[in-house]
Amino acid sequence: MKVIIHRGAKAIGGNCVELTSGESRILLDFGMPIVDEEGESFDSKAATNGKSIEELKNSKLLPEIEGLYKGQEKGIDAVFISHSHQDHYGLLKYIHPQIPVYISRGARELIDVIEVFIGTGFDAKSYRTLKSREPFVTGPFTVTPSLVDHSGFDAFSYLIEAGGKRLFYSGDFRGHGRKSKLLDIMIANPPGNIDCLLMEGSMLGRGKLKYDDEQAVYERIEQILRDSKQVTFLFCSGQNIDRIVSAYKACLRTDSIFVIDLYSAFVLSKLKNVSDHLPQFDWKNIRVKFMRYHADALVRAGLKELLYVFNPRRIDMPEINENKNKIMMLARDNSIFPRLVKNIDDVDGAILIHSMWEGYVSDELKQFCVDNGLLIEQVHTSGHAKIEDLKRFVDAFGDEYQI
Ligand SMILES: [Zn+2]
Repeated sequence: MKVIIHRGAKAIGGNCVELTSGESRILLDFGMPIVDEEGESFDSKAATNGKSIEELKNSKLLPEIEGLYKGQEKGIDAVFISHSHQDHYGLLKYIHPQIPVYISRGARELIDVIEVFIGTGFDAKSYRTLKSREPFVTGPFTVTPSLVDHSGFDAFSYLIEAGGKRLFYSGDFRGHGRKSKLLDIMIANPPGNIDCLLMEGSMLGRGKLKYDDEQAVYERIEQILRDSKQVTFLFCSGQNIDRIVSAYKACLRTDSIFVIDLYSAFVLSKLKNVSDHLPQFDWKNIRVKFMRYHADALVRAGLKELLYVFNPRRIDMPEINENKNKIMMLARDNSIFPRLVKNIDDVDGAILIHSMWEGYVSDELKQFCVDNGLLIEQVHTSGHAKIEDLKRFVDAFGDEYQI
């Protein structure tokens, strides 16, 4: 087996690994870079807008991989995606349409949701799904996915076997989320006789976490709700399902109402068939705030009937204003937030729980909060493994691997 790491070895994300065995070739992940060649943060929209595949190859955004792209003769047998974060699948729309893409069911649903709301050209419905721990054979490759704990829902690692060699590709993972047991299980019983280990290391070089794990985040959200005399806002990705579950549990414990938006109600409904443990729009203490922007997206995607499905749980401003100290509203977008706040009669002293990477707090958001008396509190834990967990993981594979 021959391994070519096209991208992702010295950067966070943008992963792309090519494996060859005999005449067959497969890819592991095909992600959009997060940083450019100088390590500066990278505007993927501006870099790709209106550009042809040739232009994107010239700018080095697309690696030179013969037989991968639209318009070429197909030369890659399959692409395996670890999870639904852009830095792992974000370049898929450029690949030859006859190359099959394999992914977990949950990750496929989440990419499809992004298509409904933003429409960036991914044909997620055509992706084929794999099940954790069920080996899949394509040509000389046997590929076995395993579910891992990560902020990306339903994320896989992959064990690849071909030509008598074994490669393990961890994908992004951690050991402090709601599925932390998965890392313990992997460490207790790692795939043996690995010839090559490709492991994530996104937290290398970063400092200690303020919140050690998802449990600590959950406990802090619960405490904020318990102390709250105002409406509380939660800034978090609607696709960070671990965090949504933590927030919902905190609401149940404090008998608060978790006000989600149509986007999140849709995300959760799409994942209902993947896990029946995930909160749904009609569960106790959940209500749905309709915003025009999200309703329009569902109508455009031919999903107008969902508005009728969600409607019995709809919550409007008068009810929010009457029950402010019992409400936590999910807010996910800096630009929409002022519109959400506008109709609440008083937000002075309200807490905005910022539950994503703190670099996402824009100057405009900070100013808006100062102007309106809102207090921002950072309550977040990383989606990636801590250094000690990376070490535990590597040690499990045997002495020959050193971090
Ligand atoms: Zn990820």
